[in-house]
Amino acid sequence: MNGLMMDQPLLISTLLRHAERHHGTQEVVSRRVEGDIHRCTYVELAARSRRMARAMAALGVAAGQRVGTLAWNGYRHLELYYAVSGSGAVLHTLNPRLHADQLAWIADHAEDQVLCFDKTFLPLVESVAQRLTTVRHFVLMVDHDHMPASTAIPGLLCYEDLIDGQADDGFEWPAFDENTASSLCYTSGTTGHPKGVLYSHRSTVLHTFASALPDALNLGARDVILPVVPMFHVNAWGLPYSACMVGAKLVLPGPGLGGKSLHELFETEGVTLSAGVPTVWQGLLAHVQSQGLTFSTMRRTVIGGSACPPAMMEAFEDTHGVQVIHAWGMTELSPIGTVGILKGHQQDLPREQRRTIQAKQGRGVFGIDMKIVGDDGEELPWDGRASGELLVRGAWVVDRYLKADHDGQPGPLVHRNGQGWFPTGDVATVDADGFMQITDRAKDVIKSGGEWIGSIDLENIAMAHPAVAMAACIAARHPKWDERPLLVVVRKPDASLERDELLAFFEGKIAKWWTPDDVVFVDAIPLGATGKMLKNRLREQHGGHLLHKD
Ligand code: AMP
Repeated sequence: MNGLMMDQPLLISTLLRHAERHHGTQEVVSRRVEGDIHRCTYVELAARSRRMARAMAALGVAAGQRVGTLAWNGYRHLELYYAVSGSGAVLHTLNPRLHADQLAWIADHAEDQVLCFDKTFLPLVESVAQRLTTVRHFVLMVDHDHMPASTAIPGLLCYEDLIDGQADDGFEWPAFDENTASSLCYTSGTTGHPKGVLYSHRSTVLHTFASALPDALNLGARDVILPVVPMFHVNAWGLPYSACMVGAKLVLPGPGLGGKSLHELFETEGVTLSAGVPTVWQGLLAHVQSQGLTFSTMRRTVIGGSACPPAMMEAFEDTHGVQVIHAWGMTELSPIGTVGILKGHQQDLPREQRRTIQAKQGRGVFGIDMKIVGDDGEELPWDGRASGELLVRGAWVVDRYLKADHDGQPGPLVHRNGQGWFPTGDVATVDADGFMQITDRAKDVIKSGGEWIGSIDLENIAMAHPAVAMAACIAARHPKWDERPLLVVVRKPDASLERDELLAFFEGKIAKWWTPDDVVFVDAIPLGATGKMLKNRLREQHGGHLLHKD
């Protein structure tokens, strides 16, 4: 027997409608590419989104078609989030840090019909426009006065002209099946071609509910949220949606991601919560520390994308009184999987024990189930020691990639052995409280004499050394042990540090056999488009380093 409740589809447009009706005067503040600060309310943002939805329809964008964006975090990008998805088309956020060839490949693979972009990326788009075979319209996200006098892009359209050309009255967001595709994001793909993850309205709205829960990101109407994580990287971890769901003020930093620019916005706009990858926070903390500044309103910061080093957690919590919310996720998970909020019985533990728990990636939020399996595929116990590949399933986990080959067909199911579990490629332990800790990656692991060595632990220790700016630990081939850990280190400017001193720093902190065999000092560690260390590149460069040692 069916329940007798209203059947309302979970649609992204309902988030904006809620923000407009229930939090209409709440502000969205953006630092613009034009250099100034722009302010609007959710009422204004919703009206402009409706007009942009009409403009997209006038450009011939049909339901299901893709509209690409190359844009910073800003109100126009946010309008496109709602205008495109709300109409039943698909918002495809492209990562402008990718190489032009890769961007062209992705836009072509996604069959983007329209490309909207910030002025920063005009030269980039000019350089690839000829190769974008499916794009029919290019839209520069500026007003009329900021349009270039001449450009290599034929028929370049002006974003504000498109909005001005449409009326707001009488527009209703269409209703359709909640499983309709809403947005598209390609994974960073350090090997092979990038893969498209196609989110649905249902998966996005459910992820939004879960992300706002108290033991997840704990969002509310009193919050002022500044996503540093880009809107082109897994929908800024869902914050453009969750801010509307809870009615929070949203502060969008545009291209200003340096420590000084961010800190100014935090202070002038009264930001209470921010979110970003560790590399961003390194810049911010360095600026705050060197200038003797404080955070007067910021209470929480979400750190994810790669492991939050304990030294960073200490700087935020002990020095600045900012709670670190350590989270783990993936593009394939929309992205939130686990969040590291302590349970009741853990709160009064001694500081060191609490830190150990907080350094883990966290516990699964409702909607995500997980398990760890050994090489034989058998599930391993949640004892905090057994480590195996992490598999997940849930309502916002990818089922199959967008037409994996260029044949128009969806890719095969991603499930391991048809069991309905997505293999994350991460290697993890889970403790009795359900806290997952990544110890390595299946695609990037150190296995020494048949035993795992956690490269992330070794990096965290190295990063805590005052003379180390960045450290990567890779598996170097070894004649006896097959693989041994090798540290690749960038010294801080003007710091002096030698191999033996750094290796002595590991003493007592880990099992002796985990100590890296050697250290290679380099000027820079190659980073991928989302700021992650390209370990495969490092392995190519330095993987043979230990072969001639005993
Ligand atoms: P992406 O899809 O680019 O977001 O990358 C997802 C991958 O980033 C995961 O599979 C992990 O390997 C890594 N990752 C994300 N969050 C964390 C975290 N908090 N700690 C360690 N690794 C992380």
